[in-house]
Amino acid sequence: MLKIRPIPAFDDNYIWLLQNPAGPRVYVVDPGDETPVLELLAREGLELEGILITHKHGDHTGGVADLLQAWPGAQVYGPANEAIANVTVRVNGGDSINLPGLGVEFSVMDVPGHTEGHVAYYGDGALFCGDTMFAAGCGRVFSGTHEQLHNSLQSIAALPPETMVYCAHEYTIANLGFAKWVEPESAALLQRYREASELRSRDEPTVPSQLQLELDTNPFLRSAELTVIAAAERYAGKKLTTGAEVFTAIRNWKDREYD
Ligand code: ZN
Ligand code: FE
Repeated sequence: MLKIRPIPAFDDNYIWLLQNPAGPRVYVVDPGDETPVLELLAREGLELEGILITHKHGDHTGGVADLLQAWPGAQVYGPANEAIANVTVRVNGGDSINLPGLGVEFSVMDVPGHTEGHVAYYGDGALFCGDTMFAAGCGRVFSGTHEQLHNSLQSIAALPPETMVYCAHEYTIANLGFAKWVEPESAALLQRYREASELRSRDEPTVPSQLQLELDTNPFLRSAELTVIAAAERYAGKKLTTGAEVFTAIRNWKDREYD
């Protein structure tokens, strides 16, 4: 079983540290900043064996060059379809990658939408999904399309419900506030809001989250639910006939009126 810890970076990013409990070799996911990573490696005598990158944005890649300066042997896995400096292993959806020091294999999923070539890494019951899905929310559509992001979220929704989801930002409280706009009557949502607020009041991360909880409370995974369809149609002011249309209306609603 992997040992997985968050390394907070910037205001609200999490760089995930993956460690084989039996040894000092570690990987990091989406190191936007090298400083907190190098500090932790030095403090604990850990050895960086590799880096996993989900997408091209600077808050996920900005620390890669300096980490390689310190650890020139580290492998850098990143999406084949995005221009990212220093990637040594370009990955595509469907690939399996073996991370020797960790003793686990991850499968790569294509999850475009936030960006056009975004990938996620799934293995050992854990999903590292970058900015595709957040706790109770999802990424904005930057260089992909709404349809792509909807399909990517549906492929995440199809993973085993006990999967633990490791996203890259602490946005949970704000996301739950919007989720309550969509489903104000949801008891599961109110319960999650209480629990997340308590964690944040102690300055603790609200992630990872279990996929089942996302299926129950994340409006962006719930575009087939009647309550969510009704809310999306109220916002759009018209009948919506596909899951992608419902998703798009919800995403637009949040972008234009909530954030
Ligand atoms: Zn991003
Ligand atoms: Fe980000």
